[in-house]
Amino acid sequence: MNQFTYIRPSNQQAAIDAVSKDAQARFIAGGTNLLDLMKSGVIAPEKLVDINRLPLKEIQLNGNILHIGALALNSDVAAHQQVKKNFPLLSQALLAGASQQLRNMATVGGNMMQRTRCGYFYDTAMPCNKRQPGSGCGAIGGINRMHAIFGASDQCIAVHPSDMCIALVALDATVLVSGPKGNRHIPFADFHRLPGNTPDKDNNLSKGELITAVELPTSPYQHHVHYLKVRDRASYAFALVSVAAALDLSNNTIRSARLAMGGVAHKPWRLYEAENALAGKTATEENFRIAANVAVQNAKPHKHNTFKVDLAVNSIIIALKKAATV
Ligand code: SF4
Repeated sequence: MNQFTYIRPSNQQAAIDAVSKDAQARFIAGGTNLLDLMKSGVIAPEKLVDINRLPLKEIQLNGNILHIGALALNSDVAAHQQVKKNFPLLSQALLAGASQQLRNMATVGGNMMQRTRCGYFYDTAMPCNKRQPGSGCGAIGGINRMHAIFGASDQCIAVHPSDMCIALVALDATVLVSGPKGNRHIPFADFHRLPGNTPDKDNNLSKGELITAVELPTSPYQHHVHYLKVRDRASYAFALVSVAAALDLSNNTIRSARLAMGGVAHKPWRLYEAENALAGKTATEENFRIAANVAVQNAKPHKHNTFKVDLAVNSIIIALKKAATV
């Protein structure tokens, strides 16, 4: 491993200054992905700025807004009574991710910052535009079973790996950020990026900007929800396809729906058109199938992942059926 310096600022401004003024500095919290990236030689920061001393761990319902500090642990968020009661979709998605040991270390902010698990990204002997812009993409002509079917570019077809973020985009979360130019709020759907011509950029943060919290509005999606994760083994595996489904039902009529998918795009993939197709309809398998087919109408699979289109349709139907019958 390369040499690096390590500092532990005691206040937020000092942490932001340390990263914004040093091109080679990175924030570190739980380190569950960052250290893997360093050990495999994908990145080599010269300075790590440990933010674990910052007071960003609170989980609190303020009126109709749930405030989750960026350093709240994934396991603490998943087990929090207010989260389980008012945002069960988020709790389910968190518990589908990684392992208990990792959830005990991983933070909410770090979960959002984790990088793709594309095997070519981690193999420094292979070309990868995300790791080294302009070098090519090993996955496009290689093994691309795990890769994107939506929103990819001719530079990168990687997928975003988080489960938590799929629930957060479905629930209209907002990301609170603090940086050298002040504070700003970013709608969750705008936080992560599609690859386009800059696949090296995963999100819309500027240099030195620190995620301080995620906020969620309370919503009618407190009962009829389901997070479905389809993967190659029962635990500790990334999604081939995942679905966050939430329904607001009146008797058996869908007043409104929220749907998002993981494992299919470079960012958490919200299914707005499928949501619109469900609004006002009765909660039947036939209507769920119509919405699922709407969801995949613009899918563009690659050589080894054409199966993901049918898998997505079936997963959306199953997730909606389970949400409707909770
Ligand atoms: Fe790299 Fe993206 Fe291609 Fe994977 S899909 S090799 S991350 S450029």
